Amino acid sequence: MKVVCAWCNKTLSSGLPDDPVSHGVCPDCAAKLAPTRRGTLQQLLDHMRQPAIAVDAKISAMCMNQAAQKTFGAGGHLIQGKLIGDIIECAHASRPEGCGRTVHCSGCTIRRMATATFQDGQARCSVEAEQLVRGADGIAAVRYSISTQKVADAVLIIIEDLKSVATSAPFAEEPVGA
Ligand SMILES: [Zn+2]
Repeated sequence: MKVVCAWCNKTLSSGLPDDPVSHGVCPDCAAKLAPTRRGTLQQLLDHMRQPAIAVDAKISAMCMNQAAQKTFGAGGHLIQGKLIGDIIECAHASRPEGCGRTVHCSGCTIRRMATATFQDGQARCSVEAEQLVRGADGIAAVRYSISTQKVADAVLIIIEDLKSVATSAPFAEEPVGA
């Protein structure tokens, strides 16, 4: 995977000649963009081709780009303050406890990556994550390749790849309070 800075186009990781291009933010631009306003964050995300969502320390959304709006079918202004699980339609987020509070959430790769990047400021690149999501035809498994990066007081969740996979273990609705 070739990675270039979405703000200044500097190459961050060259990859192989035929590799698909993904976007990140170089350390210089990340520093320049801090402290950043929401408008700047939105502009930065709009430079990225992949779906990208900026979240705050509670892993709730600040803004997202058009690719993310298309992928997750959410209006840009409607997602502000929504938790990540509600945006990607995580099957567990629909439980009464909500995103981040179910027994499954400690194993959530997206949440763990974003939290870790908040804590140490280090980017995580192209990590594979599998998630059960609610789709039109019920629960389906989706495999993501995700990068996280800290910019100012936000963490960007960049979705480099996303494909539906067959569920090996069917999703069982556990009784509430069990
Ligand atoms: Zn840059």
